[in-house]
Amino acid sequence: MKTTTEPQSPLTQSEAISPAISQKSAAAGVSLRSVTKKYGAVTAIENITLDIPAGAYCCLLGPSGCGKTTALRMIAGHESVTSGEVYIGDRPVTHLPPAQRNTAMMFQNYALFPHKTIWQNIEFGLKMKGIAKAERTQRVDDILELVGLSHTAGRKPSMLSGGQQQRIALARALVNRPQVLMLDEPLSALDENLRVRMRGELRKIQQRFGLTFLQVTHDVEEAFSLSDQIVVMNHGHIDQVATPAELFNTPASQFVAKFIGDNNIFSGTVVNAVPDEKGKDLIELDADGLGTFFCQGTATLAGSVAACSVRPDLIHLTAQSDSSTAPVPYANHLTARITDVELTGYVTRVTLRVEATDQMLLHKVRTTDWVTSELAVGQPVTVRWSAQECVFLPY
Ligand code: ATP
Repeated sequence: MKTTTEPQSPLTQSEAISPAISQKSAAAGVSLRSVTKKYGAVTAIENITLDIPAGAYCCLLGPSGCGKTTALRMIAGHESVTSGEVYIGDRPVTHLPPAQRNTAMMFQNYALFPHKTIWQNIEFGLKMKGIAKAERTQRVDDILELVGLSHTAGRKPSMLSGGQQQRIALARALVNRPQVLMLDEPLSALDENLRVRMRGELRKIQQRFGLTFLQVTHDVEEAFSLSDQIVVMNHGHIDQVATPAELFNTPASQFVAKFIGDNNIFSGTVVNAVPDEKGKDLIELDADGLGTFFCQGTATLAGSVAACSVRPDLIHLTAQSDSSTAPVPYANHLTARITDVELTGYVTRVTLRVEATDQMLLHKVRTTDWVTSELAVGQPVTVRWSAQECVFLPY
């Protein structure tokens, strides 16, 4: 789709979101119970169970083909369910048509009617519902004021910028007072700058309405910046449901650790596990070709194939010639060689190769710390990281 640019902030002084409140509706949570969706021989969703709290901003996150759009469409009623149940609040809606679910959907391309004015675009759904003219007028005027675009009421969609069209699409969905708003990749048609600004607006509108927003995205940064709850999907399954901070600190699987960023992952075999004072296990992992590493998590049986993960900002490098003893918390260490250094501004990215296994690692460090470290490309280094900051990945 065409990328749209917009020269100035979409939320200028005159367009700022107004505190109009008459559009409010009660938010409802969403629950899926053992939901499966098959398209012939293809299983798009396999037996997923999920609870999204009322009033949450939830993102379904995952790579292309993992089933996030199918999940969204089943909740909206645009796709049938092969087995299982869908609830909006306490209400079973599995077999109800979209119009009876009290949800609204905002599509990727906004789907505005090109020949209708902005005002008529927003009014359309209310008219279809048979709402009286006076109430329609009030609600359309109010929602246009709320998104700060009253002055565009008489224009056609093509006379609006990408950011403005997005807000009209949002207004058109919200004017129906849904309990849950679903958004299918709503920012993907916008350029980078505008996308970042519109993220802020979506979040602001969601908080003002107190509605449940359920958004599909493959963009990790977008999910992290918007969500109260992130659902990471992988091949029709849910790998993890967590807050952004939980996902960042404790990914639950190798897939999640890889998908959300630049984590350093070591595969191996569980040797032993000892419960620690925090109610977790200190796990000893025989890392393939690298010796023993210690990490934290919930243990599986000794002999199980597993992995551990450490964030790139939590590993520490010292020159191999540095003979000072490692501080106690750095239980794990290996030797590697620096192969590349990239100063990206505030943060410097240092790439390393573990010569014993050829595995590449990433270290992220504050540029101010890097420039005083005297380490350089080609240098052999000792890499250390603590067991407490190393996450056990059972699968
Ligand atoms: P994307 O980000 O690319 O939109 P997605 O995570 O939303 O991907 P889905 O569109 O939900 O994934 O598709 C999940 C799986 O179901 C894929 O393997 C896809 O090919 C398959 N699928 C989706 N719709 C249909 C259909 N109508 N008929 C057959 N297979 C389908």
